[in-house]
Amino acid sequence: MTNASLLYFDNNATTAVDERVLEAMLPYFRETYGNASSRHPQGEAAGAAVAAARREVANLVGAAAPDQVVFTSGGTESDGAGILAAWSERPPGADTILVSAVEHPAVLAPAERVANVERVAVDANGRLDVEAALRRIEAGGIALVSAMYANNETGVVTPAADIARLGAAAHAAGAALQVDAVQAIGKIPVDFRALGADFLSLSAHKFHGPKGVGAWIVATERFPTVPALVAGGSQEAARRGGTLNVPGIVGLGAAARLAREAASDCVTEPRVAALRDAFEARVLAQFPGTRVIGAASPRLPNTSNLCFAELDGEALLMALAASGICASMGAACSATRRTASHVLLAYGLSAEEAARCLRFSFSRDTTEAEIEQGLDQLALLIAALAPTAR
Ligand code: PLP
Repeated sequence: MTNASLLYFDNNATTAVDERVLEAMLPYFRETYGNASSRHPQGEAAGAAVAAARREVANLVGAAAPDQVVFTSGGTESDGAGILAAWSERPPGADTILVSAVEHPAVLAPAERVANVERVAVDANGRLDVEAALRRIEAGGIALVSAMYANNETGVVTPAADIARLGAAAHAAGAALQVDAVQAIGKIPVDFRALGADFLSLSAHKFHGPKGVGAWIVATERFPTVPALVAGGSQEAARRGGTLNVPGIVGLGAAARLAREAASDCVTEPRVAALRDAFEARVLAQFPGTRVIGAASPRLPNTSNLCFAELDGEALLMALAASGICASMGAACSATRRTASHVLLAYGLSAEEAARCLRFSFSRDTTEAEIEQGLDQLALLIAALAPTAR
């Protein structure tokens, strides 16, 4: 943690940039400021750094080749690029994009702009009704299936085998598969090829990289060419125009390398899961009536979405913020709106229950002492806000 007075438990909104990532980026602001497309030593040095970052990202996600990696401005752009590409290549008669009911707005909004959108339900634990999705794909008329790997609000993970079944069915029907892996990358292993996805989205700031840079992974064997969502120059093999954000891309590459190393140490993921589990166990013991959303499903190791009994989530969130604890009511981008989360409603919660839910999301930087401190503070605040709670 960088700020000693803060307890930062909002890592699904964004993460702190790792010092090593920042160090890797700095030379590309200072000495090596060339345009990566320029044919002179400055440009070539920048281009070489971009190529190295491309290899790191390809390695992290198990892409077949570095040229499957298209650098973008982040998860939102990558999701939109996948929608546009699938839509422009849709088979004759396909007029529908099939999504899980809990997709991020970065998928829902561009899909709704172009297509008829049908949502596949999830159960009370956030598990996708895969059989219903398969039946719908077989019925025809689908251009794209979009299934998120891990949910940003609850951390519930769609098992890779389920995603792969959706991909196989989509391909048999001439449709494409998009996987929004923005929350999964850096927290659990992701294997693009094993998923059988055509498009995959990731964003550096969710795994200790800089904001405003991400990648769109494209299965070039099925989509050798794609329309550019950001049209302009011929950068990124004409799949994304615009001068490359070299420092950002270098930062993404460094974050990808660190994420791959953390995944292969076999320690980070269980350590974060143990901290999260201890946090939940104490909350459940201390505040009767509290529920963990998605508890019976596979979840990201870092995410805890808690539905408190008889408490206004927003009041608790504000009280936490005032005492230096950063949590969230769900998606950071909708944190200013007072509409109930479409994710929690899809899990079967009422709007009133959804208003009692808070998300705590930890990271590889979170310490046991921070969790303990956070719990102590939470107990004081809950006691103050809900005199009936023990
Ligand atoms: N998809 C998911 C699941 C997300 O959680 C987010 C960000 O919260 C995005 C997409 C958008 O990513 P970005 O912030 O890089 O645009």
